[in-house]
Amino acid sequence: MKILKRMIVLGLSLITCFSAASCSSCKKKKTTEENEATTEFIRNGYSRYSILIADEAGANEEYAAKELQYFMELATGYELNIVKESQAEENAKYLSIGHTDMLAESGIEVNNDQLGRSGYRIVSQGDDVYLFGADNGEDAGTVYSVYKFLNDTVGYVYYSDYTIYYEDKTEVYIKDYDLTDIPTFDTRFINTMKGGSNNEYMLRMRMTPRNNISATLNGHTHFQVIPPDEYYTDHPDWFNGKKNQLCLSNEEMTEEFAKNLIEFIKAEPTRSLFQLALQDNFDGCDCASCVAAIEKYGTYGGVNNVFMNRVSEICDEWLAANQPDRKVSYATYAYYATEEPPVQKDENGNYIKDENGNYIPTCKEVVTRDNVVMRIAFIQMNRNKPIDHVLSANYYENLKAWGAVSNNMQFYTYSANYAENGYMYALNDFDITERNLRLCRDNNVTDAYFVFGYKVTDMACLYDLKAYCMTQLMWNADLKYEELAMDFIEKSYAAAAPYMKEFYNVYRSWMSYYEDTEQLNLSTGDCFSSKVFPKTFVDKLHSLIEQAYAAIEVYKDGDPELYEEIKNKINKEEIMPLYMYLQLYGDSFTSVERSEMISDLESYCNRFNVYYYGETKKMESRLSAWKASL
Ligand SMILES: [Zn+2]
Repeated sequence: MKILKRMIVLGLSLITCFSAASCSSCKKKKTTEENEATTEFIRNGYSRYSILIADEAGANEEYAAKELQYFMELATGYELNIVKESQAEENAKYLSIGHTDMLAESGIEVNNDQLGRSGYRIVSQGDDVYLFGADNGEDAGTVYSVYKFLNDTVGYVYYSDYTIYYEDKTEVYIKDYDLTDIPTFDTRFINTMKGGSNNEYMLRMRMTPRNNISATLNGHTHFQVIPPDEYYTDHPDWFNGKKNQLCLSNEEMTEEFAKNLIEFIKAEPTRSLFQLALQDNFDGCDCASCVAAIEKYGTYGGVNNVFMNRVSEICDEWLAANQPDRKVSYATYAYYATEEPPVQKDENGNYIKDENGNYIPTCKEVVTRDNVVMRIAFIQMNRNKPIDHVLSANYYENLKAWGAVSNNMQFYTYSANYAENGYMYALNDFDITERNLRLCRDNNVTDAYFVFGYKVTDMACLYDLKAYCMTQLMWNADLKYEELAMDFIEKSYAAAAPYMKEFYNVYRSWMSYYEDTEQLNLSTGDCFSSKVFPKTFVDKLHSLIEQAYAAIEVYKDGDPELYEEIKNKINKEEIMPLYMYLQLYGDSFTSVERSEMISDLESYCNRFNVYYYGETKKMESRLSAWKASL
């Protein structure tokens, strides 16, 4: 579903979500002074400009050109031509997109290392403008450069797949550009159905495309590489005593693991990231060899690092000999058994620091190779509190200490509760995202990854607001969560915004109050109860939804399209209170009322791809059970 709407500027200053604000603490941010837009671009239905792409443009370069053409036409009514370079005319004016010959001949610097996977430049030269990211075959940066250009010219902001903002304009001017914009986090992911598989959504949200990630080896993959069915009988010592994990100190297994991994790497020749991580349980291995290895390397995380180094080294040797142009990275988790970093501690269990205040690896073998990605996945942390909160202090220490043994860290965190009914309320982790991302940035974390319900389901429960704020902050960790959230609500709900703001505030206030007074962690375990969500609270949430519907009645006659668009978005947020009513307070309603609520909930869940109410818990089974009880 894609709904576009030109909405009236509400007279509020636009959040500078695209601005590459400079600040001394953000080590990567770099920008130039803003200047007045004076060069005529589109006026009275005419432009001297065309969009220029290389004859052999990559898929994302073509996509960037089409996005620019599409949104510019929506805003101005003028369709810019897209011209292949061999058809270019001598005296025409161009917006050169991506890696054209014209860019190569311009003398403009393209620093691939600086731009990374996502950074971009926009540079004016004469009347022509060059928009490009790194020349790395992926061209995501080029797509983001186009969104920045659209933001500058017609106010374009992509809030969600239901709200795209831009201004109607008959005259568009462009400024003299010399802009370099590098995001705070080089790779940025949100894991949901649309965040994991909808390329248009990912690019417009400025998430990193996932096409470099192995489709096969992603997640908990050890048993895919060494399947117990195939190996256990002949090699029981390659597994732990429970046969639910590999024995990571076993050298013979390690060699076989690398040999098998090479087959996965061969089978997916375009992929550059393969994940090698423990099975999804608490266990490690406690055989004599592993006990000795833990003694030597400090923690089981250290044993995993040594394993990762050996496996990646063998695979890299194979790549160097057989596919010398190919670069592969190997991701693993700091998770459960491998959560603790292999860093020196004193006799009281406190980390030791050197004279410069740095943490000290237990030995040099535990320092991971450059292409080993360490996904810091503290799933047991209270994710409703920032990582440096007193309740999470050990986790923050661990995060910082991991930096002593890895220079390729990803903050891999969870914005859902994976217990029963856990997907049907919002984790109270809203503005915590802002603090966590800044702490991560300041501790050399280069990638950020938020997990919701994985690729099998989209989420309701304020997900679209969260996703907007998360993606904006992953791009620029200096933005303010509350400003982003308020802007999101104003642009998404127009006349209903005051009620949706209250919905957001009431929800957050209650969750914080309850969690703090009861000293509970509502981010994990089975929390879905009438104590946590009392009926008066659900009544309040639902009444705000009803007031939001009433507020948009003003659009019904004059602007029925806008009315339907906003109603649709309110429908999505009604999922949470409706589910709470049906699951916790069914007895308070007549069967006719319940039947209506079930029918509404079912239609909303189908419309918004909300297929699960908890991890592995299918919504259709819940709906069937409710229907059977009518
Ligand atoms: Zn072992």
